[in-house]
Amino acid sequence: MFRRYDLHTHSTASDGTLSPAQLVERARAAGVEGLALTDHDTTDGLTEAAAAAHEAGLGWVPGIELSVTWNEGTLHVVGLGLKAERTALEAGLVELRRFRDWRAGEIGRCLAREGIPGAFEGARALSQGRLIGRLHFARYLVAQGLARDERQVFQHYLTPGKPGYVPGQWASLNDAVGWIRAAGGQAVLAHPARYALTHGRLRHLIGEFREIGGEALEVISGSHNPQDIDKMALLAREFRLLASIGSDFHGSHTPWLALGRLPTLPKGCEPLWQTWIKTGEPA
Ligand code: AMP
Ligand code: MN
Ligand code: MN
Ligand code: MN
Repeated sequence: MFRRYDLHTHSTASDGTLSPAQLVERARAAGVEGLALTDHDTTDGLTEAAAAAHEAGLGWVPGIELSVTWNEGTLHVVGLGLKAERTALEAGLVELRRFRDWRAGEIGRCLAREGIPGAFEGARALSQGRLIGRLHFARYLVAQGLARDERQVFQHYLTPGKPGYVPGQWASLNDAVGWIRAAGGQAVLAHPARYALTHGRLRHLIGEFREIGGEALEVISGSHNPQDIDKMALLAREFRLLASIGSDFHGSHTPWLALGRLPTLPKGCEPLWQTWIKTGEPA
């Protein structure tokens, strides 16, 4: 068991700016001892990251972050400790990326109608032919001088109700958790404080997540403030869920907490990795 885990990070396989090998090197330099790569809706970066982690002597946890539609809102479910045998998950990922590709074209068309032509081509170029996310659009608009920073692009264009927001259907919560479990992984509800749900709706979500086989809440996240952390720690205890920790690192330009500089879990939380001691894996 390691002392410093970071179980939620992104690479260029999705919307991060470092390649999987560069991410591993940055994690090692930041003092991370156990690292998960959890790219959005793809496992494409895992092979490169695994080799680099092995080389660097880092504890390695193969992961994913799945996009989910729940009650008309979008949620993220992280899967950790994926095995090589993951047919159902990979089949689900093909569908998720199909929707993502269609959505990217739609976002481009919506932005063109707003007087911003070429955004799809710009985002696609920034994604280097890999998966296209809203963050690629945000980076393109910032590079064009159309916004101060990525956050502003989301605020003005890419969130519900704004002209470049394209709604649609991601995976169901049940499918996402099922695919992760069928791949031998553990399902973690990512950054639960970020969903702008009332306390009652959040408890409903967490109850349902546990019911269908979810195992942990991301208590510590780069997007949680100290109050969020305390609140999620209490909910994890109440619902007898394990606690996970991750920076949600996308590259050093992003506003999230830097890789490896995370607080420790509040007392009373049972860390997800305690279950790994019993099984001897992952990390
Ligand atoms: P997508 O999965 O393509 O819809 O994009 C979701 C991603 O957009 C998240 O994982 C973040 O990386 C990024 N994101 C969402 N909201 C914001 C925001 N307000 N500022 C910066 N990045 C954001
Ligand atoms: Mn992202
Ligand atoms: Mn997320
Ligand atoms: Mn993430």
